[in-house]
Amino acid sequence: MNQQLVESIVNEVVKRVQDEKCVEIEASGKHVHLSREAIDTLFGKGYQLTKAKELSQPGQYACKERVTLIGPKGSLHNVVVLGPERKESQVEVSLTDTLSLGIKVPVRESGKIEGTPGVIIASGSNILRLEKGLIVAKRHIHMTPDDAKKFYVENGEVVQVKVFSNRPLIFDDVLVRVNPSYQTYMHIDYDEANACGFAKGTMGKIIKLCK
Ligand SMILES: [Zn+2]
Repeated sequence: MNQQLVESIVNEVVKRVQDEKCVEIEASGKHVHLSREAIDTLFGKGYQLTKAKELSQPGQYACKERVTLIGPKGSLHNVVVLGPERKESQVEVSLTDTLSLGIKVPVRESGKIEGTPGVIIASGSNILRLEKGLIVAKRHIHMTPDDAKKFYVENGEVVQVKVFSNRPLIFDDVLVRVNPSYQTYMHIDYDEANACGFAKGTMGKIIKLCK
């Protein structure tokens, strides 16, 4: 087949998949977002995080820096720091991770950390005792306003997502977040990724709930 024909077929398939209210899924491993104060404590005053890899959401990136999370029962090593720095530190882990740490952690929307437990973060011999901010991130979809229009959903809406994989399932209670600064992707953690047989490129179809 010639290149042009292949491209037109690929474009048609992409368009049909989009028309089917499908979004690409990404799995997020455990990670930390750090405030300026936290970076100063863990890496030294005025330290600048080192960008290692751009993430799908514009302006967000994985850093070279790694930290250790310490709980009463155990530690999690080699936890990636995501940039840029944030107003408040936040640590996102899976429910399996919380068992390793020995801390009871609620499922929360990113940023809603009032009343959440803290955790000890270590970098070498530097120790930060975070008072709050340890969460299991609620599964969510980042969406552009254009896609929200196309999919007939709005910011804050809760939907179901049917995952197409070799271990298909339907996720309930999926929060849609619409923002012009987003790219459209669904985010799940590793527990959820394993539960649905996630592989890179796995797609999910949005199922709208009756109000
Ligand atoms: Zn996300």
